[in-house]
Amino acid sequence: MTKKLGLVIDLDTCVGCHACAVACKEWNGGSFVSGPLTDYEPYGKEPSGVWFNRVRHYEAGEYPQSKTLNVPMSCMHCEDADCVTVCPTGASYKREDGIVLVDQDKCMGCNLCSWACPYGARELDESSGTMKKCTLCVDRIDNELLPPEDRQPACVLACPTHARHFGDLGDPESSVSKLVTEREGFGMLPELGYKPVNRYLPPRSAPQVLQAASSAPSPTLSERVAGWVNKLVER
Ligand code: SF4
Ligand code: SF4
Ligand code: SF4
Repeated sequence: MTKKLGLVIDLDTCVGCHACAVACKEWNGGSFVSGPLTDYEPYGKEPSGVWFNRVRHYEAGEYPQSKTLNVPMSCMHCEDADCVTVCPTGASYKREDGIVLVDQDKCMGCNLCSWACPYGARELDESSGTMKKCTLCVDRIDNELLPPEDRQPACVLACPTHARHFGDLGDPESSVSKLVTEREGFGMLPELGYKPVNRYLPPRSAPQVLQAASSAPSPTLSERVAGWVNKLVER
């Protein structure tokens, strides 16, 4: 059985608090796997920086029946990951358990993988000149020095509504696979052909998404995700 480690995110209970994004930045900023996650002008007028997990917000329906849908997005650890095959140095690779990583010592910051990723999951660290992305917190999940209950991604542990779950989506008997089956969860934008491993659980009510409520790094990506969320809630 092929292992497919990944995340399951419940769009019904995610409240868009960004705790997952902040916990990810905090943990991985000190990680030996990815190195620091640089901030640019943190106290300036337009602070920005490297993030592995970004939460997008979509306004659904019309007032007074409107509803906000929050969609956290990080690397989907795709089965057919073009970000790996385009890498000219072999820095991008996929482990046997399905996790896609970037070897910081081999990366030359050419950006090819970033252009190949349709989910906006890779971010170039301008300070180190290398590409960075969600590691699925390999330095937590593989860390035998941590108690078993803490061998979970930082984002999963931080989520106050338990909207995030981690496990083996290649094992039909795993708790995450059972959850996906029970709630009819599915991957984001499967028509792109990357076979994303991460799964989203649809909201229980069915609002119609009219427009993106906040700006995203790429308007095209934002529109695509809005379309995907629409399909999700119309099922
Ligand atoms: S989401 Fe992007 S970075 Fe992650 S495996 Fe898929 S193509 Fe690669
Ligand atoms: S699994 Fe780890 S690296 Fe990936 S988004 Fe969550 S906290 Fe960040
Ligand atoms: S921490 Fe949980 S509730 Fe908050 S944005 Fe992330 S997934 Fe949603």
